[in-house]
Amino acid sequence: MTNPPTELASIDVKNPADGTVVGTIANHSSKQVAQMAANLRAAQGEWESIGPRGRADWLFKFQEWIYDNTNKIADVLQSETGKPRAEALTEPAVVTDLIGYWARQAEGFLTDGHPVQLGPMTIGKRLTTIYRPYPLVGVITPWNFPFTMPGIDVIPALAAGAAVLLKPSEVTPLSAAEFVRGWTEIGAPPVLGLATGDGKAGSAVIDCADYVQFTGSTATGRKVAVRCGERLIPYSLELGGKDPALVLSDADIERAANGVMWGGLFNAGQVCVSIERVYVEAPVYDEFLAKLTAKVKALRQGQDGRECKHDVGALATDAQRDIVQRHVRESVAAGARAVTGGKPASPGTFFEPTVLVDVDQTMTCITDETFGPTLPIIKVADEAEAIRLANDSIYGLSATVWSSNGERAERVARQLEVGAVNINDVMVNIFAYSLPMGGWKQSGIGARSGGAEGVRKYCRRQAITAPRIPTLSKEMLWYPVSQGTIDFAQTLLRAFAARGRRRVSLPKWLEW
Ligand code: ADP
Repeated sequence: MTNPPTELASIDVKNPADGTVVGTIANHSSKQVAQMAANLRAAQGEWESIGPRGRADWLFKFQEWIYDNTNKIADVLQSETGKPRAEALTEPAVVTDLIGYWARQAEGFLTDGHPVQLGPMTIGKRLTTIYRPYPLVGVITPWNFPFTMPGIDVIPALAAGAAVLLKPSEVTPLSAAEFVRGWTEIGAPPVLGLATGDGKAGSAVIDCADYVQFTGSTATGRKVAVRCGERLIPYSLELGGKDPALVLSDADIERAANGVMWGGLFNAGQVCVSIERVYVEAPVYDEFLAKLTAKVKALRQGQDGRECKHDVGALATDAQRDIVQRHVRESVAAGARAVTGGKPASPGTFFEPTVLVDVDQTMTCITDETFGPTLPIIKVADEAEAIRLANDSIYGLSATVWSSNGERAERVARQLEVGAVNINDVMVNIFAYSLPMGGWKQSGIGARSGGAEGVRKYCRRQAITAPRIPTLSKEMLWYPVSQGTIDFAQTLLRAFAARGRRRVSLPKWLEW
């Protein structure tokens, strides 16, 4: 008889750029996660009761801590992701920016509502909607932005008054540990916990949360949805993407080439909203390709220290590098050609920034999410073909449209089957916290951000009705029933609900 495999008590974290072990984290058991959840729940009531202003104070203190510790945070980010310094520095900067937004706006977004509804049933009532947070929100994050990802979801959940149990990816948990360390160091109420470990720790978080915000692959997102469904708890999923760029014949080609390059290669292409397919109208194809290729060739790839020297860093894991390599290999075998890049670059998990041509819609580099530094380019006859091919995907996260004609660009944007479109720009919607960021099709369910919705999603809405005029000893429809009151009530309801002559209840003999 063989023994069942023993659970790892801890997991080593590696720097993918050079393979060194840079830290170790606990692989928390379900029991440990449940204990954390209980502690967070115990602290949540007080957190809710200090109100949005009290919470904003703590969020701004946390923001100050991030400003003061930016270099340390960037060091940790680089150590576990192999990102270049410039990219590591953007992560804490984004979190401070979104703290500024949610801390200032949450109070307004959580204000009670008093909807007006004129009707015989409600006319004498004061109607109120209030927002009460889910006590415990589970936030499960992936490895590509280990400090920003927690920020995007944890901050609005805390602003809503929930306690949060954060479960970062086992590949890059050290930056999330910094995030939680900061919260603890400022002496904030103990409403932010850190559960570390593999997928089992993630499922343990789902088992004790009241709401789950998940970011990761579509395959894991489906498992999360199933588990949440079994528990009958709400969730929001931010999943994979295969974002198209549509370069139209009247585009500013210099800007389009710069934007597509950055949008495809930022974070070595490991961004859910990175550009993964490029459709270029025939008249500008040659010019666009020449510019893009020259620019990509000039990029500097490598491992940074504290100085910003490189543009493109390593991939997060060996497995990710292998996926990128397979996509390129399979596409080349099917007839594609790398005009620059196309190979892994050692040591570590680097993969050369790659531009692929002679690509068609059936190749792996177009059908599957690559999550790497590849830009497959397809020449299209016209705008209609660009739209048709862009929409031909199981994913629908976001897209970019490049054109100097604003009306034309917007007309194209409105025909794309995606959650967000940036015109003549990339990824900017992510920083527009007042806009919803949500994927269509297999790219997600629900949305992040979205102004008021961004904090209200972490709340249960409660409806309260109360009389606003003196009440009688009984309402019209309360017992005992009588024909007279039913007839009167129906006449009244009809007078409010119907339109035109149907507002008036006519005697039977007068109806026509
Ligand atoms: P990737 O990090 O490659 O996008 P995943 O989508 O699998 O991969 O991982 C995203 C996050 O989901 C990670 O924090 C991971 O540990 C967690 N996770 C993996 N499997 C599960 C699961 N069954 N339930 C909950 N969380 C999971």
